[in-house]
Amino acid sequence: MDNFDIGRPLGKGKFGNVYLAREKSQKFVVALKVMFKVQIGKYNVSHQLKREIEIQYHLCHPNILRCFCYFHDESRIYMVLEFAEKGELFSHLRKHGRLSEEETAKYIGQVSDALAYCHDKNVWHRDIKPENILVDGLGNLKLADFGWSVHDKTKENRNTVCGTLDYLPPEMITSNTCSTTVDNWAVGVLMYECLVGKAPFEGNGQKETLDRIKRCRVVYPNPISEEAKALISKLITLDYLNRAPMVEVAIDPWVRTRAPSFKPVFAKTHPHH
Ligand code: AMP
Repeated sequence: MDNFDIGRPLGKGKFGNVYLAREKSQKFVVALKVMFKVQIGKYNVSHQLKREIEIQYHLCHPNILRCFCYFHDESRIYMVLEFAEKGELFSHLRKHGRLSEEETAKYIGQVSDALAYCHDKNVWHRDIKPENILVDGLGNLKLADFGWSVHDKTKENRNTVCGTLDYLPPEMITSNTCSTTVDNWAVGVLMYECLVGKAPFEGNGQKETLDRIKRCRVVYPNPISEEAKALISKLITLDYLNRAPMVEVAIDPWVRTRAPSFKPVFAKTHPHH
C-alpha cells in the first residue's frame, strides 16, 4: 500500500470500496479495489473470490479490465485494476436512454471479441449486463466482474443459479441449467437494451419477466435496422445449441458496417471451427 497514493472513491462494491490510486514511482493511475476479509468470510465466498481474481489476472485482452496485481494483509484483499474513467455502461445507457446503431455496434463488437477470447480459454463470464461493463476514457468497453465465471475444462453444463433476471437465459428457468451459450444470449439482450433503452423481457415483477423470457418473443417499440434485428435473433434464441458463437458476432456484417473503425483482435485470428 505504501507504493500508492490514494484518491477519490470510485464506487462501492459488495465487500468493500474502489478508489482511484496512483503508483508513486511511475505515476501510473489505477483503480484500487479493497475488500474486507471479514465481509468475504461472512458471505462464505472466499473460494469464489480467489477464483474470480485468478481468472481476471490471467486474461489479457483490450476489452477485459486488466488486473495488474493483487495482494493482501491481515484484514483486506487488494486488486490493482485498470482505471475505466467513464464508469459503468449502465449509467451511460440510463443517461442517454438508448444508443445509436453505430455506438452499439462498436460495443457489441468489443464485448463479443472479449468473450470469444474467454470462451476459447473455457472461461464463461455468466453475468454479462451493463452494470458489469465499464467504459474507459476513450469510450472503449472493459468487461469486469468475473465473480460468477467458471473456468470449466470439461465444457459441461453446470447446475448453478447465475446471472440476474433480465439477462437470464430460458434454460436457466426451465431446467436450472447454465449452458455454455449463456453469454451469447446475454449479448443479445445487451444489444437490444442498448438500441431500445430497456431489456427485451422486462415485466411488472419477476414472474412476468420469467414468463416473457420463456416465451422468447422479442418486440421492437422503436425502428431498428433489419440487420440489427437479424443479429439479435441469432443470439436471443430458445435453443441454446443454436446461438451464434462470439467469434461470428465480432465479425458480423452489421458490426462491420456500423462500426468500421472497430477491429477485432481475437476473432480476426481465430475463425470459428
Ligand atoms: P465492484 O465492486 O467491482 O462492483 O465496483 C464497484 C463500483 O466501483 C463499480 O460499479 C464502478 O462504478 C466502480 N469501479 C469498479 N472498478 C472500477 C474501475 N476499474 N474503474 C473505474 N470505476 C470502477
